[in-house]
Amino acid sequence: MNLIMGSDCLFCRIINKEIPADIVYEDDDMLVFKDIDPQADVHLLAVPKKHIPTLNDVSSEDDRMLGAIIRKLGDLARQAGIAEGGYRLVVNCNRNAGQEVFHLHYHLLGGRKFSWPPG
Ligand code: AMP
Ligand code: ZN
Repeated sequence: MNLIMGSDCLFCRIINKEIPADIVYEDDDMLVFKDIDPQADVHLLAVPKKHIPTLNDVSSEDDRMLGAIIRKLGDLARQAGIAEGGYRLVVNCNRNAGQEVFHLHYHLLGGRKFSWPPG
C-alpha cells in the first residue's frame, strides 16, 4: 500500500493490481479499465492513480492530470469507434448522483443512444 492510497479503496486496489481488471490503458497518472457491469456496449472507467474521493476533492494541482485523462478518453472513444456516433462522459459525485466507489472516476459510455435528462 502506498501513502496516497485510500485505505480499503476498491479502485486503489485495482490500480495496485491487487484486484484484477480488464485494463485498456495505463500510464504514470491514470488507469482505464472496463466497467464490470457495463451499461452500454462500451463502458470504460478512467481513474487517476492519485486517490481523490470525489470531484469535490479536486485541487488545482490536479488540473494537468485531469485534463490528460479527458484527452485520453477522447482518443479511446475514437479507438472504440464511438466518437462520430457519440458517447457520454459521466462523473457521479456523492449520494444524489449515486456514487458508489469513492475514488474519482470518469465513466465513458457509448455504442447506444442515451436519453436526456438522465434518470
Ligand atoms: P459510481 O456509481 O459512479 O461510483 O460507479 C462505480 C462503477 O464501478 C460502477 O459502474 C460499477 O459497475 C463499477 N465497478 C465496481 N466494481 C468494479 C470492479 N471490480 N471492476 C470494474 N468496475 C467495477
Ligand atoms: Zn482510491
